[in-house]
This record gives sequence, C-alpha cells and structure tokens, in this order.
Amino acid sequence: MNLELSEEQEAVRQLAKDFVAREIAPHVVEWDRAENVDKSIVKKLGSLGFLGLTVPEEYGGSGGDHLAYCLVTEELGRGDSSVRGIVSVSLGLVAKTIAAWGDEAQKRHWLPKLTAGEAIGCFGLTEPGTGSDAGNLTTKAVRDGDSYVINGSKMFITNGTWADVVLLFARTDDTPGHKGISAFLLPTDTPGLSRRTIHGKLGLRGQATAEVVLEGVRAPASTLMGPQGKGFSIAMSALAKGRMSVAAGCVGIAQAALDAAVGYAGEREQFGKSIASYQLVQELISDIAVDVDAARLLTWRVADLVDRGEPFATAASKAKLFASEAAVRAANNALQVFGGYGYIDEYPVGKLLRDARVMTLYEGTSQIQKLIIGRALTGVSAF
Ligand code: FAD
Repeated sequence: MNLELSEEQEAVRQLAKDFVAREIAPHVVEWDRAENVDKSIVKKLGSLGFLGLTVPEEYGGSGGDHLAYCLVTEELGRGDSSVRGIVSVSLGLVAKTIAAWGDEAQKRHWLPKLTAGEAIGCFGLTEPGTGSDAGNLTTKAVRDGDSYVINGSKMFITNGTWADVVLLFARTDDTPGHKGISAFLLPTDTPGLSRRTIHGKLGLRGQATAEVVLEGVRAPASTLMGPQGKGFSIAMSALAKGRMSVAAGCVGIAQAALDAAVGYAGEREQFGKSIASYQLVQELISDIAVDVDAARLLTWRVADLVDRGEPFATAASKAKLFASEAAVRAANNALQVFGGYGYIDEYPVGKLLRDARVMTLYEGTSQIQKLIIGRALTGVSAF
C-alpha cells in the first residue's frame, strides 16, 4: 500500500479542511447547544462534491476513490461529527448502496439529487426491539397487487426527520430462520409514514435522529431495491463500507482531540511551569497521538482494499472497532489535559467525548465487531 497521497487526494483533503474552517468551525458550539445543525450545510456539502464521492459521474457523483472519501470524512469528523454523520449516511449508506444495487430508474431518479444535496437519505434498519440482531427485524411488507403494504417502526434513524428518502428494510418472507428481508427506496412523504425527533442525545446533538413509523404505507413495487429477499445482504454490504466511514470520522475526532490537547498544554501553566513540561501530561498526549496514527492506518488499509476490489469487510470491522474505541480514549485523555475547562462547552473536548461515545455503538457495537472478526478467524459464528 502506497501511503503517499496523490495530488487529487491532497487537493480534496485541503478543500474539506477549508470547508470545515469556513462553514463548520464557527457554528459548532451553537449547533450543539441548539440541538440543530443548520440544514443549509447539506447543499453546501453537495456543491463541493462531498456528497457524491465515489459515485459514478454519470449519476451526478464526483468520482474519486475511497481514500479520498476517507480523507473528507476525517476532516468533517474533525470539524463536527454531526455533519460527518449526515454525509456518512446520505452518501455512505444510501447513495452508494443505490449505486451498487439500484436499477437504472432508481439510480437516475435518486442519485443526482442525493449527490447534489438536493435530497437527503436515511437508512432504516434498526427497530425498537431489534438493534444488534437486525436479521430479526419485524417491520412487514406484504405484497398486494402492484404494491407492498408496509407496517412497523424504525428507531434511531440518522437524518430521519430531514430525509426525502428512506432506504428501508422490511420482512417480506415469514419462513422461520429465513432472513426474508427486502430493501425499499421509499420517499418519506409517502402517506402513512410519520417521524418523531429523538431529543436528549448525549452527543451528535445537532443531528436529526428520528423514530420512523410506518402505518399501512403503500409502496409501489418499483420502490423495491434489488431482488426480493436480498435486503439483509444489501444492508450488511452497506454497513461494511459504512464502518470504514465511521472509522474515518473517529480518526477526525481523535485528531481534533490531539490538536486541542497539544495547544492547551502549551498555553496552560501550573506550579510555575507549562503543563506541557510534565511527563504525565506528555503521556496523555502521546497516548492520543499513537491512537490517531493506528486508527488512521487501519482506516486507510480498508480504503485501499476497497479501491483494489479486494475483500474488505473484516478489515472494516477491525478499523471501526479500533478507531471508535480510540476516539473515546483520545477525547477522554484530551479532556484530562484540559482539567476543569474540559468539562465546559466553551472548549471543544467535552463535545468530542460525547460525540465519540456513540461510535462504539452504531453500525454494530464493539461487541458485534469482535464477533464478526472472531467468526472470520475461527470459521465459527458466536452470534
Ligand atoms: P442492543 O443490540 O440491544 O445491544 C445492547 C448491548 O448488548 C450492547 O452492548 C451490545 O453489544 C450487546 N449485545 C447484543 N448482542 C450481543 C451478542 N450477540 N454478543 C455480545 N453482546 C451483545 N440504526 C439505523 O438503522 N440507522 C441509523 O441511521 C442509525 N443511526 C443511529 C444514530 C444514533 C445516535 C444511535 C444511538 C443509534 C443509531 N442506529 C441507527 C442504531 C444503532 O445501529 C443501534 O443502536 C446499534 O446497532 C445497537 O443496537 P441496540 O441499541 O438495540 O443495542
């Protein structure tokens, strides 16, 4: 693997850095306090091509490779994980999955809008009763003539109240032990679909997270994406790539923690000396730095495998597992460097820690990643 970035990759990273400095950094505290990112950010992300990375240009995408995608995701994660998550879901989980599994009409209809930021996508897999055990989801889609009637509910859906389309997973086959799940691309203004914002989150406060309820929703057969019964494979393939994106966002959090800790340690004096001169403070900082490098290398490794068309799912689980735990550790260490000032939101590290905490939970908890890695190594499923 070549660790030297190409000119294009450097350029897109710089573009993302500048975007974060100009459009995100000045608003981070305000958005977090108000529990609301300014929605106009979505079109701005689209206009720079950040919502179309890796999507073919013929469908409105901006092309690029997966390492470039990770670089942008890292920079957005460094700026604000709430914004990073908008991209990871609308592009990473929805648009990329449409590009891989959608039919021509679905691609032509949704991809130009999603990549331009004129439409937002959300990913509806988790339900109130099934999180890690997503294969046992209970939302039902029953065929009736030339449509499906869908009933059920989805929990913790990122972009939920903002989204124009939900990539929805519902059971179309009741055979016991059979993962008869299908994927649907459902416009969120379809009658019978309602949404409720989930407030009071520990982190990612600016992000629109929702419960989505489906009551007698009539979905035309044309909304089915991929073959009927293939939905679980579609969801798992989306999540494998999604984990790379979460990992890259976590590298961004850890990098932000490092920058903040080094900056503060250099300014703060106690006992008549800079706290940067104390070995125990340097230990906190060096632990963060090692976490940043290790998480970044594991993440780049996944991008490299994807770009070379090699199997990458286990590597993505390793990267997501390590990077998410590393982001929590890094933010926590940075908070320690800040002392009491780390505990108030005038300084960035408290938010980094709150935002990092969910990364070990969603797109498969750390325990689930270990089961995936363990299964790949031993050939035995411990689920
Ligand atoms: P559970 O599955 O109930 O797990 C509880 C605990 O049990 C965890 O510690 C878990 O690791 C452990 N556990 C479960 N099974 C096992 C096992 N076999 N072995 C060992 N330990 C086990 N979902 C979506 O579909 N779309 C989204 O956009 C989305 N966004 C989210 C945004 C936020 C802010 C949050 C908090 C969640 C989001 N989720 C989303 C849901 C997320 O993916 C789930 O919360 C996650 O998969 C865990 O499911 P759960 O919360 O039901 O926990």
